Amino acid sequence: MSHSLPVLVHTPAHSQVAGPLTYLSEQVLPAGTLVRVPLGQRELLGVVWDAPADAAPDHLDPEKLRPIAGRLDGIAPLTPAWRQLVSFAANYYQRSAGEVALAALPPQLRDLNTLQLARRLKRHANAAGADLPERSIAIYSVALTVEQTGAIAQFNQQPGPFLLFGATGSGKTEVYLHSVQQLLASDPSAQAIVMVPEINLTPQLEARFMARFNPLYGDNAVVSLHSGMTPAQRLKSWLAAHGGGARIVLGTRMAVFASLPNLKLIIVDEEHDPSYKQQEGARYSARDLAVYRGRLEGAKVLLGSATPSLESWHHSRPASQGGRYVRLEMPSRIGANAALPLVRRVDMNHQPKKCVISPPLLDAIVQRVARGEQSMVFLNRRGYAPVLHCADCDWKSECPHCSAYRVFHKIDRTLRCHHCGFTERVPRACPACGNPDIAPLGRGTERLEEHLAELLAGVRRPNSVSELWPEGEPVRIARIDADSTKLKGELESQLARVHSGEVDVLVGTQMIAKGHDFRRITLVAAVNPDNALFSSDFRAPERLFSLLMQAAGRAGRDADISGQSEMWVQTFHPKHPLFEALKRHDYPAFAAEQLKEREQAAMPPFSFQALVRAEARTQEVAQGFLTAASAAASTLPDAEHLLVHITLYPAVPMSMQRVANVERAQMLVESPSRAALQRFLTAWQAVLHATRQQPEGKGLMRWAVDVDPLAI
Ligand code: ADP
Ligand code: ZN
Ligand code: ZN
Repeated sequence: MSHSLPVLVHTPAHSQVAGPLTYLSEQVLPAGTLVRVPLGQRELLGVVWDAPADAAPDHLDPEKLRPIAGRLDGIAPLTPAWRQLVSFAANYYQRSAGEVALAALPPQLRDLNTLQLARRLKRHANAAGADLPERSIAIYSVALTVEQTGAIAQFNQQPGPFLLFGATGSGKTEVYLHSVQQLLASDPSAQAIVMVPEINLTPQLEARFMARFNPLYGDNAVVSLHSGMTPAQRLKSWLAAHGGGARIVLGTRMAVFASLPNLKLIIVDEEHDPSYKQQEGARYSARDLAVYRGRLEGAKVLLGSATPSLESWHHSRPASQGGRYVRLEMPSRIGANAALPLVRRVDMNHQPKKCVISPPLLDAIVQRVARGEQSMVFLNRRGYAPVLHCADCDWKSECPHCSAYRVFHKIDRTLRCHHCGFTERVPRACPACGNPDIAPLGRGTERLEEHLAELLAGVRRPNSVSELWPEGEPVRIARIDADSTKLKGELESQLARVHSGEVDVLVGTQMIAKGHDFRRITLVAAVNPDNALFSSDFRAPERLFSLLMQAAGRAGRDADISGQSEMWVQTFHPKHPLFEALKRHDYPAFAAEQLKEREQAAMPPFSFQALVRAEARTQEVAQGFLTAASAAASTLPDAEHLLVHITLYPAVPMSMQRVANVERAQMLVESPSRAALQRFLTAWQAVLHATRQQPEGKGLMRWAVDVDPLAI
């Protein structure tokens, strides 16, 4: 006789097939089993989602059910906890469980046919079966600092979740290593997830973890999971984790969905980083899911940052005030004289008009060059100039497809749209009036690099007179941004040049401000950070403060030279409280001020938000859909109750209103209660689907909900 199996497959996001499909199977397959099933003409990967039933559900005609095509042999079923994590994420972020589950599995499980997969699995089984030599498992001993010891002691005494609030260079990574190490030593099957925000930060951490753990637990103890890996590598890591052989999974946000049968610890490094939020499909926050998953599976959760997100900071207030996280503090940098850098504000109101690098900053850079030290100058805009402009007729280099200007890239003389990619050669004359004298407006990293080269042209590096440079070698300037690192390996090689001292002045975007451990940099400068002070995005100050603190943290990591290290900020608002707090390295003061403002304005974390976005050929259609769906909310059964704590704002154009000829609109939904917001969104889904079928949905290209959005 046949059993009917509920199987989750990847159905299109808005097909409204939210739950599992029913298939027949001769065998009783336990929930969590990976199977292949037919859907239309195709054969898809699926996950048995529930216990099998003897009979098909009543509403289905048993005659029409199709049998599964087969099961994936040699892969243990996914655990109930993993399925629960997927269900929760799907519900919370308003997507189908099939989409979330299948996106969380390695692509090769979907893409390889049964035969290819069987071969692959056999190979991994053989590799994993190789005997490990006997090893003595001793706790690797670095003498922990007093602050590290204190943090670990608290970590061991309480269930958490924990927020490790530690200055840059305070030894947070050592705390991560230590907590993983004591876990693995105490429990022979325990596993841990360690997450970092960006792929280009994984190699450094990977090296530190492998150096520590491979000698103890073998070469497969640490595996990585991130989008920079090949599909074959990802499958291999995933299988090692799923099989229990890998003890540590190190990865980016996707690692939160890794299948680990014995998960006991989740670490989220730089927990404030926006890249933990997925920005397409199911827009999940890996940090928030880590906290949920920890509770679900009884795993400890350790979030760490020098500049925590205001959400996590707020959660870690004293328990007596309602805090839910335990705050662990490590305020001091490691090393005898490892002071944090001196923050210097340059009041641009008193500098020569239109100057880009103020004379005192230039002077400070020249001094660094003379001492053989490095400087880092960052500006959050790549390209040569953000706009090309005709002074005669006021033509500007608008993108014909987007509500944005095309950026002038001097290197290849192109105008490039950073939103849709539309690229053209720079015109010889103004396309509108023929004026040959069109000029760049504003400044990106490319132009800043050129400008610095001019300013430093007369400066020579000390002791560099040679046959090649009879008057001494000029200052060596390098630039790192998305343009200079497009090709694989370029970022690594450029970073290596900075590390080995082949660069005196490094210019770049925020890419260089994060995480990298530059030893010889003693000056970091933010050339023009003011924009974020007055942005319409209420999170802009939070991001700026954390970026500047992180950037300051790049200076003087070498204890021997940190005595002279400085962070320079050029600003027209030197007395702004954000810069006052930065000057004192006082994150708590900054956070207190921001939280006060957020509380007064009833903004997160004092309220909860979701955004519905809609895209169409015209704003009218995009907004019309949202407005109709909003009005229809009141027709929901139980609407009175559902709408009590909900504010539905009017539909408005998104701040980037048009991209690639698509008009984009959004509508904010807000509530003081997370539960009320969730209840409403869940009920409202059906209305959104229905509205799409109404006249108001005509011409709509797509819509999506973003829960806890990071950019409004
Ligand atoms: P963070 O992650 O907080 O920025 P790291 O963990 O990278 O800081 O530590 C900063 C530096 O201090 C690193 O070079 C690290 O090797 C060193 N360090 C960390 N802990 C100790 C310790 N207990 N004793 C000596 N050096 C340490
Ligand atoms: Zn013109
Ligand atoms: Zn464009």
